[in-house]
Amino acid sequence: MASTASGLGASQAGAPGGPPGRELPGRRAIRTFLDKMKVEFAVIGVVIVYMVLVFADLMLNEEDGIPWWNPVFQVVDLGFLIAFTLELLVRLYAYGLVYVKDALNMFDAIVVLVSLVLQIFFMLQPAGTTATSSFGFMRIVRLIRLVRLFTVMNKLQKARSAYKKAKYLRIGTPVEKVMELLGQMRETSETDEDGQDVAWIMDLIATDKLYTIDVRKNTSMSAEMSAFITANLGLKNEDPDDDTATDAGSTTTASSGGAPMLRQESSYLPAAAEELTRCQELVERPEVAELLKHIADWEFDPFAFVEATQGNGLVVAAYHLIDHYGLIDKMRLSRSRLASFLHQIQEGYRGENPYHNATHALDVLLNMNYFLTFDALGGLLKPVDRLACLLAAAVHDFEHPGLNNNFLAATKDPLAITYNDRSILESHHVAASFKLLLSDECNFTRQMGRDAYAELRATVIQLVLGTDMKYHFEHVTKFKTKLSSNAFKHAETDSAERAVQHDDVKFLLAVALHSADIANPAKPTAVCSKWTELVMEEFFLQGDKEASLGMPVSPFYDREKTNVAQCQMGFINVLVKPLYVEFTSILGDKGISECLRCLESNFDGWTEYQRRCTEDGATEPWTEFMATRAKELADERARLNRRPSLAASLSGRAGAQVHPQ
Ligand SMILES: [Zn+2]
Repeated sequence: MASTASGLGASQAGAPGGPPGRELPGRRAIRTFLDKMKVEFAVIGVVIVYMVLVFADLMLNEEDGIPWWNPVFQVVDLGFLIAFTLELLVRLYAYGLVYVKDALNMFDAIVVLVSLVLQIFFMLQPAGTTATSSFGFMRIVRLIRLVRLFTVMNKLQKARSAYKKAKYLRIGTPVEKVMELLGQMRETSETDEDGQDVAWIMDLIATDKLYTIDVRKNTSMSAEMSAFITANLGLKNEDPDDDTATDAGSTTTASSGGAPMLRQESSYLPAAAEELTRCQELVERPEVAELLKHIADWEFDPFAFVEATQGNGLVVAAYHLIDHYGLIDKMRLSRSRLASFLHQIQEGYRGENPYHNATHALDVLLNMNYFLTFDALGGLLKPVDRLACLLAAAVHDFEHPGLNNNFLAATKDPLAITYNDRSILESHHVAASFKLLLSDECNFTRQMGRDAYAELRATVIQLVLGTDMKYHFEHVTKFKTKLSSNAFKHAETDSAERAVQHDDVKFLLAVALHSADIANPAKPTAVCSKWTELVMEEFFLQGDKEASLGMPVSPFYDREKTNVAQCQMGFINVLVKPLYVEFTSILGDKGISECLRCLESNFDGWTEYQRRCTEDGATEPWTEFMATRAKELADERARLNRRPSLAASLSGRAGAQVHPQ
């Protein structure tokens, strides 16, 4: 019985075994059986009974002992030894050679096998021939068997502690079980390299660094890009010399905003009704109606739409989309209050911000809607999810002061104090929006059920908080992990599985909104170039402020020193492309081709501009270069688009496909 509780040492150790392809038939089932606590304790019990018999034999087998004892014991002993040998073979089959790597198991196995061989040898001797000499010899052999008592007791101890642990694990977290299995794998790994790998995995899990990226290991990244990422994406800068702490004066940057919450509600509000009428009139304007037909196109131009709607692009697009998907009726929303809410949200975006204004909110809303037109994403949504997505996109930068979280924290801004320096802006965008929503004039959710409202609120909060760039790398890594485990494809019917799956859907939506938020470099060159100009100007304004306050100027925020092409190339290469490659993979070929084509084309543009400046000594501003490039690309596309439709008409087939609305 080589084994007894021995299994506890090797048992789970063997479990990870080799790859499934090399698995011997029934091996896993036998392992599962042997690993059961009851089986372990039963085997130990048998060994203890055997020990008692061997002990009794030593006591009774004296000259004046019971005459029938010896022949009976010989047979019983042989029976036990055969049983133990069979058990040893079964364990070797189940766990492989790893089983005997354990010193106790090896000792046990040797004792059992030697005992069996000697026992058979002894029994085969003709009766009486070597009686006296072999009798003494056999006593020594049986004494050796008693040494096994030590191993059995040792294993009994192990079995008891493992049993206690197993009971505890039932209420523990999965990570404890994972660590236990990894620990066993490390102990029984066949090579040092494997052992080190397992130790490294355990270290990552234990220090909660599974989703942490070390930018310093990326040698292809410029120092400035690395500094930008370190400062803005929540990565710790471990350079001890880098002490940017400052005690510059505090500036108030954002108004508290939002209408006060009214206790009394009236069902009809003239002001809200007026907003609705204005919104409906705008939707019906011919030029707006024409643009709305293409609202789900990736190439939709938000700047043109804002112009056509007389500066009301966000209100009109959000209202149109919510209505278009039938959400007003399905979710029992108040039309007038919705129009009023959207209008006030739009008003809350600061027009003086070059970038974080209502046009950016509109752009993110359009991008999010574009992603939701794909079945892989839109097909997973309940009406409340879709409403949450559209609202989250519309409010995601509400009352943005045009300054980033780092600045607000460093200047001890009241918002930083309110939100404890954690996702300051994102917390404010969502909190201020809900404060506004709860005002009588704007509460379009009054007729919505309690549960639906709670779900809407939870999803909007999760999505808006997820736009904090601090979570970028964490999102990308988690997204990859989930993709590899097919988390977004399962459709279990079991209710517990459903709940898990809905969490995955919400995570997927958070990744979608974050992707929508950083989509600028993945847009057609003309639009991308315009956004670049605006975002860089907002960066520079903050840089000017930092300089005037005597603070160190943030990376890429210095208007005199920043190389815009390098900044954009780094932004594409390090942040946007890795996310888009993963994210668009779930949208299918069309989604990938539209987004990645623009992204790569823009990257090529910046590379070419950079080359001209450094190699040819060109002094042309990047804005001019990109404008020329955008025009050339548009002409080229128009020429290419004409060709297939001509061919199609010649062959009598239908012309260009209309993008599904
Ligand atoms: Zn944004």
